[in-house]
Amino acid sequence: MITFIDSHAHLNDDAFNEDREQIINSCFEVGVKQIIEIACETNEWKPAAQLCEKYKGQIYAAAAIHPINAEQFTDSSFEELKQYLTADNFKAVGEIGLDYFYEDSSPRALQQEIFEKQLDLAQDIKKPIILHCRKGKDVQDYSAYEDMFFALKKYNLSGGILHCFSGRKEDAFRALDMGFYLGINGIIGYKKNDDVRQIIKQVGLKYLMLETDCPYLPPQSKRGQRNSPVNIPEIAQNLADILGKSINEVADITTQNAKAFYNI
Ligand SMILES: [Zn+2]
Ligand SMILES: [Zn+2]
Repeated sequence: MITFIDSHAHLNDDAFNEDREQIINSCFEVGVKQIIEIACETNEWKPAAQLCEKYKGQIYAAAAIHPINAEQFTDSSFEELKQYLTADNFKAVGEIGLDYFYEDSSPRALQQEIFEKQLDLAQDIKKPIILHCRKGKDVQDYSAYEDMFFALKKYNLSGGILHCFSGRKEDAFRALDMGFYLGINGIIGYKKNDDVRQIIKQVGLKYLMLETDCPYLPPQSKRGQRNSPVNIPEIAQNLADILGKSINEVADITTQNAKAFYNI
């Protein structure tokens, strides 16, 4: 059986409250053998730790405060975050970054401040980072990427992944220059994303990991439905088609990448 890793899932989202255990078991059945649970608000850290405990060696976690939850950042929540990240099964700091899409979400200056505080932390504890970067609503507004790379230059980090890659070619290659990976999910199959498909082709498999970002962003054939790690084989097939490779090769290389990156 071909096996995969979902390098970015939100299984503790309320969308899975009715059938979380069933979904997790069906993931293992379709070959998605390991999952990284991303806990990016304060109340998700504990459930993530519990999930890791329950599915030892199968589910690992990352923790942080997401830019759209920037207001949750306080001295005490930061201390708590540091505690969680000392655990062995918490493998990365994430997702962190900048999200300029919604004008009414956390102010940009506050997002930048907590992004840098969490970069400090990642540098101190020598764990890799998971980056979330979303451009402004204006088609021309790529300032989130500019600000993100400007901040990153100041740090000496233990690796990174630019998750849900949807930037420009120059953003992809700036990430690669830093030794970072790109996270590939269902959006690569969306009709409007020809640019992203072209960029991924130029980047190549060596720098890619598979993710769902579930319950959001289902692959094209499941648009409008809840996403879950069960869809990873379909995303892998989409990627294989784009790259002109076999699904086995996509599974092998992306699994190796995720294992090396998350140290699992
Ligand atoms: Zn994200
Ligand atoms: Zn996410």
